[in-house]
Amino acid sequence: MEHRARALSPESPVIRGTAQNPDVFFQAREAANPFYLAVPGIVTEEMDRFAELTGRRYSIFEYRGAPDAERVMVVMGSAVGAASEAVEAAVARGERVGLVVVRLYRPFDKAAFCRALPPSVRSVVVLDRTKEPGAPGEPLYMDVVAALAEEWDGEMPKVTGGRYGLSSKEFTPAMALGVLADDRPPREHFTVGIVDDVTHTSVRYNPYDWHEPDDVVRAVFYGLGSDGTVGANKNSVRIIGEHTDLYAQGYFVYDSKKSGSQTVSHLRFSPRPISSTYLITEPTFIAVHQFGMLGRADLLHHTVPGSKFLLNSPYPADETWQYLPRDVQRTIVDRHLELWVVDAGSIAMEVGLGNRVNTVLQTCFFMLNQDLLPLDVAIAAMKEEISATYGKRGPKVVEQNYAAIERALAALEQVKVPEVAPPPVETTPPSAFEDAPDFVRRVTAVMMEGKGDLLPVSALPVDGTFPTGTTRYEKRALATEIPIWDPEICTDCARCALACPHAAIRLKAYLPDALGGAPEGFKYKEAAGRDLSGRLLTVQVSPDDCTGCGVCVDVCPAQTADGHKALDLRDVLEHRERERANWEFFEKIPPMGRTEVKLASVKGSQLIEPLFEFSGACAGCGETPYLKLMSQLFGDQIIVANATGCSSIYGGNLPTTPWTVDEEGRGPAWANSLFEDNAEFGLGMRLALDHMEEEARLLVLALLPELGQLAIDILDADQSDPAGIAAQRERVKELKERLAGMDDVLARRLESVIDGLVKTDVWIVGGDGWAYDIGYGGLDHVLASGRNVNILVLDSQVYSNTGGQASKATPRAAVAKFASGGKPTARKDLGLMAMSYGNVYVAQVAMGANMTQTVRAFTEAAAYPGVSLIIAYSPCIAHGIEMSTQMTHQKKAAESGFWPLYRFDPRRAEEGKPALVLDSREPTVPFEEFLAEEGRFGMLARVNPAEAEELLAQAEQDVRDRWHLLERMAELTPAGS
Ligand code: SF4
Ligand code: SF4
Repeated sequence: MEHRARALSPESPVIRGTAQNPDVFFQAREAANPFYLAVPGIVTEEMDRFAELTGRRYSIFEYRGAPDAERVMVVMGSAVGAASEAVEAAVARGERVGLVVVRLYRPFDKAAFCRALPPSVRSVVVLDRTKEPGAPGEPLYMDVVAALAEEWDGEMPKVTGGRYGLSSKEFTPAMALGVLADDRPPREHFTVGIVDDVTHTSVRYNPYDWHEPDDVVRAVFYGLGSDGTVGANKNSVRIIGEHTDLYAQGYFVYDSKKSGSQTVSHLRFSPRPISSTYLITEPTFIAVHQFGMLGRADLLHHTVPGSKFLLNSPYPADETWQYLPRDVQRTIVDRHLELWVVDAGSIAMEVGLGNRVNTVLQTCFFMLNQDLLPLDVAIAAMKEEISATYGKRGPKVVEQNYAAIERALAALEQVKVPEVAPPPVETTPPSAFEDAPDFVRRVTAVMMEGKGDLLPVSALPVDGTFPTGTTRYEKRALATEIPIWDPEICTDCARCALACPHAAIRLKAYLPDALGGAPEGFKYKEAAGRDLSGRLLTVQVSPDDCTGCGVCVDVCPAQTADGHKALDLRDVLEHRERERANWEFFEKIPPMGRTEVKLASVKGSQLIEPLFEFSGACAGCGETPYLKLMSQLFGDQIIVANATGCSSIYGGNLPTTPWTVDEEGRGPAWANSLFEDNAEFGLGMRLALDHMEEEARLLVLALLPELGQLAIDILDADQSDPAGIAAQRERVKELKERLAGMDDVLARRLESVIDGLVKTDVWIVGGDGWAYDIGYGGLDHVLASGRNVNILVLDSQVYSNTGGQASKATPRAAVAKFASGGKPTARKDLGLMAMSYGNVYVAQVAMGANMTQTVRAFTEAAAYPGVSLIIAYSPCIAHGIEMSTQMTHQKKAAESGFWPLYRFDPRRAEEGKPALVLDSREPTVPFEEFLAEEGRFGMLARVNPAEAEELLAQAEQDVRDRWHLLERMAELTPAGS
């Protein structure tokens, strides 16, 4: 308790954190030495005490392996499990090897380390899970070298250092065995687990040099991010761990796309404690929870012969075989796999669980693994878990899950597998890659196949620069239903295309001769509107990029009396082939150009190709429609500075990225920076662009005698609209040609900054976690800078990317992580704070509430010659709403006053008008009606009704107060006008 006596207290005041000067700082640092020296002894004592209490013994350096080992590996942390298994196996086959496990890294007790080594040691190999570019070695290696140099008695062993496992790269016992066998010269720094064909550092190892014991059950499950697979498997680990004597382990691999992306669960059940810190490569049970995944990668690779294979199949048992890809059929036959199927999708849908197939498939897992746990025990435990997990959401959800169990028990069927394997199919690259650039075929395609681990070092860019526009090659085919268009009743409103979070449904208006060669059944209508007169119009879905989220159908206003809409969701299996052909043709129809349409309108913007497409965002995402719109309005002239968060993940996550290019090869350039400095990052881009422009203009001026009228036209160019920018590009093109023929050092310098002569805008993008919380200091700095940057805040009112923690944008009474009892304080009003500067353009928008206002705000913000800020309401799965209705739900957010729409334009104040225009009317929808549709508010009412009532009343007051303040501000004319 000594440290408590040292607490700061006015009862015994002291001062800490003084600014120390050269006269004393050095001595003060050395004064703490005795404490560092004492730590190893203290830790050893505590470890001994822990052993007495629990029977589990640790020491600061632990030796395992042969007592007379000549070669010893040194590791710490996550390598210990795999390294221990490898050393154990090597010793069992008579090798003189050992392992030192470092438990206390700093302070590094050099003498204790040397004591831990067997005296017989001749060479030491040290593994670090880090890379220190430019250093003579990695940190643990350096410590080991220093310890041996200073403390080893006798001839010093040779020391080698190597790197493994960066960014969670696998480290297996086979790799550890490779390291132990490698006899490269000392001080050569190696890598293990990759193929380094550039500096040739990699250790060779045999991946088949290691097999897990036969009595360990190894189950691998492939699922989608939103289907509940991971949750169910965590649950199974718990159930088996608690109801049997087996040791259980679960490890879950997510690709960092959002829901709808692949998850792989690795589960081990063993009669002994499990120290295997690596993924399962030879499963004894395999489950594929989404049928469509089978065609994408070799999932059955290395499944142990005779294993059970559980497949969620939309086809009955007697039909499933014919729909399996040929290579999957071959593997099943060759490996004598038992194939079991269940139509989990239909069962989940029928009992009201939507796409959550987890309960059905978990039941089947227990049915097929009754040697692990008797079925009745498993089912009883599952029901218990269901009540505990879903009870808070009400009895209906619990009953739906119970029903799913009962239905699953009756629906699981075994497929009769033919005895003879079908002939092999010649492997040809998937057609999506036929026209792909070389890099995409060589690198991106391999990553998409899940084989990125096999790419050699030489395949990767040295500076992290990757091509854009690669999501178009990743046909995820996630949708079970896709929208089918009826041109007879469509009104050309373009709401569907604007609202689609995945740019999977598009509009094109084209001249009739573009229809030549159209596939049978390609649909079109006469385009409405005078500006499109003589053109035809098609609304087309890309069936393999659609997620089936239903947002487009929900926003479509064209409906017949019997409820049939201009877009209806239909079974993808019935429509996929036709719509694929239609999409392929549609893609070839030339899109209209920016100068040909009324760009600043809902329909005009949607006739332009999006330069943000097919992102891996959650189905129905509320953020991505804004980015897509931004790319349509200005995509060929922008650089995006993107804060870390959801938008950096669906926007810049390998293997494929959604930012893309137009026919001319132009499109948004994109870079990501951290939560804490993204606003400054974007401002830096602006300053660099301004500097480049300034220098370019000076050089054009200096070359005026040679360039003549061209120089004058360039310097005087009006680039305030797409036509002006297009004209300037033509001039710059001519300038490049002229400069190429000039033998002048100024011409060379101008060539290096010439792009600065064409208008380039900076958009700083991020979520509320960035803008309201962690990056706010920097954002405020940028707001105050007066520089011409545009800021887009995708306000989902929660840290969406990390699982829904409360941010300062979270409204009062909403339940979020870290606010499980409902957030007790009101949300911060970023818009009002920005308006207080007076010279910042500020707009609050909600696309689903008013699409025209959103388009107008983006256009005004881009045109404003200073800082502009758009705060965009972005519904998220964390809100607990039905995401297919997220756009129409936004209407309620605005109409209830929860999210008032406005635009604050300092240019209006200069004209003597109120700067603030309220685009929302006085609230007409009762606040409770809006809240009732959101689980984040409803949850509190179920758990703590009294607290909920009070917090919700305060939340309603927040809304009223803000509305009245905005109303007053909208009446304010500037002083002196
Ligand atoms: Fe886009 Fe969703 Fe409609 Fe598919 S269902 S086209 S992803 S809005
Ligand atoms: Fe046509 Fe409906 Fe799309 Fe509007 S939303 S363009 S009416 S399909």
